[in-house]
Amino acid sequence: MIDSYRHKGLRRKLVEEVRSKGIRDEKVLTALEAVPRHFFLDSSFVEIAYQDKPFPIGSGQTISQPYTVAYQTQLLNVEKGMKVLEVGTGSGYQACILEEMGARVYSIERHRSLYVKTRELMDKMNYKVKLFYGDGYKGLPAFAPFDRILVTAAAPYIPEALIDQLKTGGLLVIPVGAGDTQVMKRITKTDDEKTKEERFGYFRFVPMLGNKAE
Ligand code: SAH
Repeated sequence: MIDSYRHKGLRRKLVEEVRSKGIRDEKVLTALEAVPRHFFLDSSFVEIAYQDKPFPIGSGQTISQPYTVAYQTQLLNVEKGMKVLEVGTGSGYQACILEEMGARVYSIERHRSLYVKTRELMDKMNYKVKLFYGDGYKGLPAFAPFDRILVTAAAPYIPEALIDQLKTGGLLVIPVGAGDTQVMKRITKTDDEKTKEERFGYFRFVPMLGNKAE
């Protein structure tokens, strides 16, 4: 796997494009510049890995658009050392962005084939993201509580288990909606019993799967 000057140059341009679309958090932009996105796509996509677009990664799934990755990461307000759960590992790209920002990342994937493929890639790239094959609706109770939880597939509703697994003061960023588009929501767990909800723009994610995956 080669990260050439050309790739680095394309990445810098991508960062400027994402910045011009309104992402202002320098920590997020620095992480975007650091992670070689072309490693996460099949080789036929290498040349276009640095366009601000989603791409197929197999099993009918996609790697999110860089702008969307940056948008969700900015909302998540990650600080060094935080324990972060991602639901929807996919290619592993988002998880690596979070690790690059100093988070200790746990990520769950529902498609076994994607989980296996991404685990191999993480090992090759020396990222320490902890990957799990399982159902994101249930979270990861054995490793809870988390400072932050990020859902990267469209959720028809907010899973109660994810709120339960947040620390007090913790944040959950989740695209909610069963139709074609989802509202980006940020939930703050204000205390044991209470949450506060903020709504952001509309996005389009692949749906969260129930028990139907392989
Ligand atoms: N974050 C990914 C993109 C995610 S696409 C990246 O950076 O590449 C959404 C992913 O969520 C898909 O890989 C899909 O298989 C997975 N997914 C769908 N339903 C899920 C569930 N219930 N639990 C965990 N993962 C799920």
